[in-house]
This record gives sequence, structure tokens and C-alpha cells, in this order.
Amino acid sequence: MSASTVGSVRRDGNQVFVPLEVMERVGKATFEASGCSAEEASTIITRLAGANLRGHDSHGVIRVPRYVQWIDEGRQIPNQTVEVLQDQPSFAIVDGRFGFGQSIGEQTVDIGIAKAKAHGVAMTALRNSGHLGRIGDWAERAAAEGIVSIHMVNVRGSLIVAPFGGIDRRGSTNPFCAGIPMPDGDPIILDFATSLVAEGKALVALKGGKALPAGSLVDADGTITSDPTPLYGETPPGTYPDPSRGPGALRAFGDHKGFGMNFLMEMMAGALTGSGTAGALGEEQARPFCNGMFSIYVDLGAVTGVAPHMGHPFAEEVRNYVAFVKSARPTEPGGEVLIPGEKEKKVMAERLQTGLPLAAEAWDDIVATARAKGMNDVDLG
Ligand code: NAD
Repeated sequence: MSASTVGSVRRDGNQVFVPLEVMERVGKATFEASGCSAEEASTIITRLAGANLRGHDSHGVIRVPRYVQWIDEGRQIPNQTVEVLQDQPSFAIVDGRFGFGQSIGEQTVDIGIAKAKAHGVAMTALRNSGHLGRIGDWAERAAAEGIVSIHMVNVRGSLIVAPFGGIDRRGSTNPFCAGIPMPDGDPIILDFATSLVAEGKALVALKGGKALPAGSLVDADGTITSDPTPLYGETPPGTYPDPSRGPGALRAFGDHKGFGMNFLMEMMAGALTGSGTAGALGEEQARPFCNGMFSIYVDLGAVTGVAPHMGHPFAEEVRNYVAFVKSARPTEPGGEVLIPGEKEKKVMAERLQTGLPLAAEAWDDIVATARAKGMNDVDLG
């Protein structure tokens, strides 16, 4: 059985469509065979597949082989719980102990939610977390509890982004995310990397998936390009593309202003949390990979009960403004103005029907990883 004919996976040229249940079964078994508890294995693959469902393939199942490699190398440790280093009424400093971000993120955000519910406003500072994946997951988790949240993330040990006006790598993709709960509907989720594209989008492009926007990278000689290869350099056979190897860099988004946001993430999520910045001078180069995350939580119930709202309740004010923004005339004939998070909802509705579209090569890598962890044709279905 070839990788791309596993179960009900449908192939269309260089692309495959993987039903959600197939992906979750293969992924769960792979992570369990790698040492994760059944619960953690399920959480990891559900969150990765959830990123694909929302159109963020960069933070989806394409990461399965890399996560497994990280477990094997001891860089990401299964079944960890956060260590609470400081526990104050409205803030906590926690250490993720290099556990899976999918578990560590949940635990951290749940601490923030509980504190915000008790005191109206809270803050969590997370250090040494494994890869936190799609940060929108954390804003959605808080929003489901009626909590507005802001998350600032840095990526220590992943030096892949050049500063505005520079060629050399000095930072990482450092995402920013915020979530606004809506009592009568899906929350509004703003969630983006502060590099022009997330690293995983370069990985997707390298694997034959969606091409990168013009000018996403800078090569070692300063040439601006959309070719992802300068980020990875040569990938030796039998290994997965490693962005630490390439001679080039991703570029920060939004010129000097976007670079300023990217820099701010290092200050808040790297320096202030104690997780450490992506700085790689001297001994710092040896710092192991982790996400740091600085989060702020505001309990809407507590705040809207006391704050004046220009005559409208919060939810109505938000709804009215959304409608006002969306009424702007589109620049493209037949186009539509979208608000943050709206694109993800549209993609999700579509992908729940079609299955997860993946480059065949990315799916082949996932199946090869599953087989290496002992799955056979029967297990793969
Ligand atoms: P992106 O460029 O697709 O931007 C996404 C944001 O833009 C969303 O809020 C989306 O709703 C909004 N958006 C998209 N199209 C829009 C339109 N037409 N009109 C208005 N708004 C629109 O995302 P990205 O920068 O590639 O980031 C992808 C994911 O990668 C994110 O989930 C991020 O959290 C994640 N990430 C994680 C890490 C990590 O270390 N854990 C690092 C970097 C990025």
C-alpha cells in the first residue's frame, strides 16, 4: 500500500485529502508510540489537525515528523505538567519544562482563566514551553470562558528572522494573538506571526504546498526572494528540513512597524517571562528551542459590569462595528472585507467537508513516521 492510498485518503495530482478521523487516528497512534499518554497524544493531533482545519497548514500536521524527531532527540518531553514558580492572586509565572505546548498551553491558559475569573484581570508568564502551535487556540480557550485575552509569544532557539533593514538572523517568527469573546457567536480571533510568513508556511512551500508571497525571505547576499530554500539550505536524505541550517532568513512583516512588533514579542515573551530571547550571541547559541508566552486576561463579565459603554453593551458595540467595517466597499470586484478570524471560519466549513488538503510529500512523511513508530497497513487502515 503506498502512503497516499492509506484508508480513504484521496489523491488529486500532487495533493491528498485526508479525512479528519484518519489523520487523528494515525497521529494519535504515532505520538502514543513515541511516549505520549493516550490523552496527550490525542490533544496534540487534535490541535495540529485543528490548525489545518482553519487553514494554518504551517502549524498543522506537517509538524508530526518534526515533533517525533524532537521527542527522539529529547528536545520536547512528553507528559509534562507546568511548574508554578510564582503564584500571586492575579499573576503566575510558570515553567513548561519543555513539555508539549499543546498540553502546557492548556494548563497555563487555564491558570490565567481561573485568576481572571477571581480578580477580573490576570497575567501569566510562561517560560520553557515546547512548541505552542497555533496561538489562536489559546485565545479561543479563554474566549470560551468569556475572557478577552492577549498573547505575545517568542521562539527562543529559533533564529530565523532578519530585522528591518538587516540581512542576518536576529529574531524569530514571534506571533501575536488576541481574542474577543462574543456571547452569541464565535469569538473574534486575531492571530499572526510577526514575520512576513510563519516558518511552517515556508516548510509547506518547500514540500510542494502553497507558494510564499513575494519578498518573504532575504538570501545571504541580501537578495529579496519568495524561494523557501535559503531558509533550510541542503536537507540530507532521511532528515527533515531544518530552518537552522539555511544561509538566508525570513523577513519581518510590515517594514519597520512590523519589525517593532516582532522586537516587542522578544521583550515581553522572552525577557519579561524569563524564558530568554532569541538572542544568539556567544553561549546563548546553545539555548534549546522553546516558546515563551506572556498573556493578559480580562474577564468581560467583571469589566463590562463597571465600565461605561457609550450607551451600548459591549457585545452590541462589537457587533455594530463589525457590520460597519464589513460594509466597506471591496477593492476587488466580488470581494469581501473580512474581520480577524473570519477567514479561518470559512476555511474550516470547507475543510470539514473535503478533508485536510496536504501536499502528497507532507502526507508521505507523516505515514513514514507512523511506520517508523511501528504502525502497519492494518493500523493505517
Ligand atoms: P496569516 O498571515 O494567515 O494571518 C492570520 C491572521 O490574519 C488571522 O487573524 C486572520 O483571521 C487574519 N486574516 C487573514 N486573511 C484576512 C483577510 N483577507 N482580511 C482580514 N484578516 C485576515 O497567519 P501567519 O502569520 O502565517 O500565522 C499562522 C499561524 O502560525 C498562527 O496561528 C500563529 O499563531 C502561528 N505561529 C506560531 C508560532 C509558534 O512559535 N508557536 C510562531 C509563528 C506563528
